[in-house]
Amino acid sequence: MEKSVFFFGDGGAEGSPERVDLLGGKGAGLAEMSLLGLPVPPGFTISTTVCKAFLATKKMPESARRETDAALARLEAVAGARLGDSGAPLLVSVRSGARVSMPGMMDTILNVGQNDAVVSSASARTQSARFAYDTYRRFLAMHATVALGLRKEPFERVLEDARARVATAMGMDQAHLNAEELKRRVPDAHIPAEELAAVATEFKAIVREETGHAFPSDPREQLWQAIAAIFASWNGPRATAYRAMHGIPDDWGTACTVQAMVFGNRSDTSATGVAFTRDPSTGERAIYGEWLPNAQGEDVVAGIRTPLPLRAVRREGAAAAPSDESLETRMPDAYLELCRVASLLEQCRRDAQDLEFTIENGRFYLLQCRQAKRAARASVRIAVEMANEGALSREEAVLRVDPAAIDSLLCPTLDPQAKKKLLAQGLPASPGAATGQIVFGPDEAERRAGQGVAVILVRSETSPEDIGGMKAARGTLTARGGMTSHAAVVARGIGKPCVAGVRSIAVHYDTQTMEIGLCDEVGRLTVQATLKKGDVITIDGGSGQVYAGAVPTVSTALSGEFGELLGWADSVRTTRVRANADTAPECRSARNFGAEGIGLCRTEHMFFDGGRIQSKILAEDGHGRRAALAELLPLHRQDFAHIFREMAGLPVTIRLLDASLHERYGAAAEGGVVRSDGTFAAGGVVRSRDAHMEIHAMQVRAIFEAAAQVAREGTRVLPEIMMPLSIGEGELAKTRAVVDALAEELLDASPVTVHFSFGAAIQIPDAPRVAGELALAADFFSFDTGSPARTGDPELGARIETAAVQGRRARPALKVGLCGEHAGDPTSLAALGNVGLDYVSCDLYRLPVARLATAQAALRARA
Ligand code: ADP
Ligand code: MG
Repeated sequence: MEKSVFFFGDGGAEGSPERVDLLGGKGAGLAEMSLLGLPVPPGFTISTTVCKAFLATKKMPESARRETDAALARLEAVAGARLGDSGAPLLVSVRSGARVSMPGMMDTILNVGQNDAVVSSASARTQSARFAYDTYRRFLAMHATVALGLRKEPFERVLEDARARVATAMGMDQAHLNAEELKRRVPDAHIPAEELAAVATEFKAIVREETGHAFPSDPREQLWQAIAAIFASWNGPRATAYRAMHGIPDDWGTACTVQAMVFGNRSDTSATGVAFTRDPSTGERAIYGEWLPNAQGEDVVAGIRTPLPLRAVRREGAAAAPSDESLETRMPDAYLELCRVASLLEQCRRDAQDLEFTIENGRFYLLQCRQAKRAARASVRIAVEMANEGALSREEAVLRVDPAAIDSLLCPTLDPQAKKKLLAQGLPASPGAATGQIVFGPDEAERRAGQGVAVILVRSETSPEDIGGMKAARGTLTARGGMTSHAAVVARGIGKPCVAGVRSIAVHYDTQTMEIGLCDEVGRLTVQATLKKGDVITIDGGSGQVYAGAVPTVSTALSGEFGELLGWADSVRTTRVRANADTAPECRSARNFGAEGIGLCRTEHMFFDGGRIQSKILAEDGHGRRAALAELLPLHRQDFAHIFREMAGLPVTIRLLDASLHERYGAAAEGGVVRSDGTFAAGGVVRSRDAHMEIHAMQVRAIFEAAAQVAREGTRVLPEIMMPLSIGEGELAKTRAVVDALAEELLDASPVTVHFSFGAAIQIPDAPRVAGELALAADFFSFDTGSPARTGDPELGARIETAAVQGRRARPALKVGLCGEHAGDPTSLAALGNVGLDYVSCDLYRLPVARLATAQAALRARA
């Protein structure tokens, strides 16, 4: 029979801290702390295998019973006390603990091993009846609710009545006090022994009444009941729901730890608390947490009293105030011990820890350690600082941070130096700042955004039909709804800024305006103003403020530890990371965020930006069309030149005008229709693909002329011309011929050599089928999902790999990249470790996510 009960304490442990599967996280942590010689009360852990057997057969396996008896005897010997012995009674806690932390989802029973005889002699012996009966009533209520399955309320009511009696005796007028207020005025520690003894008697009466049996007075029976209850709590409704939500297997089971009690409720020099070795919200390296004097562990979590801080609050250099209620001030020795074990445990466990401790008559004990949960910001700082302290390698630090979590750190924030005019205050529903033109409908938002215009979607409130518009807009502003309104929830989900519930605005869809109460400095509504569609506003989703006009933003997120971590990520990743950016300012931001090129520069906006000719390029007669294109050429040339200058030395993939977008924003604007063969009719005139070829030729000419010009200025230029998704294979070769001819005309004449490449965007689902054929005419492929992507496609890696292999068979030097939503999605990137991508290209604010995720994929592929 395999060993299933593992002793710990007394400077050693039978179980291996590695065996989290057997001991659970809590049991493994206790074993590790014991092995380190830390002050842990002794005990033993019954393994998860016993739990599984118990749940299957509804009884404890005989061998586990025997091992438990033996371990209990050993515990009694080490503790110098025996379960149920009224001379020297051993009290134990019976604790649950699964392989992964499931906070508060399972049960624990404290102070097991008491009956009337044990308590009355303890009361005499310790000379503290109050302590003895306080411990008794805690046990009775906990055992009755957890092991016997009774409701909590009757027990709470009895305690409340006792509190009320104490208040009356103190002369307090408590008729108007509610239970919470009463608890605050009469804390547990102020309820005297006689009252607590009466409470215990009443508790036992409740149990007899509700179950028909007396409360079990045999401490061994109590222990077995408690162990059974802990195992059964694995299948309790809370634990079951939690597992379903977090994908934790149902068959892991929980371990059960039986441990000698230490008493934080013994005296005023006793206490209990929780500590983080580093601040879980900022990551700062300093003890952080809470404690309660004269209390037991569950009091801190249960919010019975407001816990006190661990660290003293003090001004620079000054001593803490005498009124300071920190552990540091009140129990300095215990605090120092806490600091010592905190740094020791961090060192051994190589991560920030979350600790539970208890102090009994001034003596410090550890009861639990585990990996501390932390905010995204803290996870970055902790990983970087621990690497810099030498506790982790840089690679390990890179692997420690979840790329999905850092998204929230990248939101641009308003430049604090900038002058701004506050228009209104709403709720900070989704962080980040955004500037754009007001639009009042989701379709309008999508249309304008498709033309490259930054818009803010303004709605009274949003509904599911608005989601497309919210995605297309830079941010959303609503007049109604709270922090959990549709707008707020969706915005946070898609990572876009949102200010919700701005009550000082009124949205009028009929007139496409919004009325606004102008605020002065103190937020008083003074003047009424009206904004209309197209007016520019700035919203700050982090503060809930709405400003007039464009307010410059700053990105502080990439500085400090975050920048350092990404630098380390850059040095290990093998896939290059580029950005999707359409304009020179976006290119600048892309470089700031670490882009190694532009993987997708869309050109649609170059046709539609304010004042530029739109419909004329679709003119029916070839003459008018060519005249319009001739007018656009210098504008395009200038746009490209700006972009090339920004991206000096880095590749820029320019996607020629997409026919599908063309149709949406061109023909649709004229009330035209699209035919199945790809031609479209507008105003009754059929336009052939010739129009596209002419437009593309103009664009290529603009690109080459700009490239030659910038190269002449001494800046290296690497243009990559990309055909959009909509093309067929034959067309790619045809366009290539046009491009090559233009290159001969424009680049060969250039005094400075300009290299360019020509490639195609390919839909991922089609990729394996068309790759070989397309590679004959393409220097590179850029995989795209085309439509708004479904991330987490399990076939993604395989499809890309097959297409890359086939493409490279036709053209060995073929470069392959990935753009679209997958390229900024951590789950997809994690799955792309080894598929041979040269680069991924994602949205600006996803760049750091992509840098980190590709680095992690490379590190995992290495391992
Ligand atoms: P949870 O998993 O819900 O945190 P625990 O088993 O850790 O449950 O116990 C709940 C509380 O009781 C914790 O604050 C813990 O520190 C305290 N506790 C557990 N065992 C003991 C013990 N042997 N002595 C004193 N306090 C204990
Ligand atoms: Mg705990």
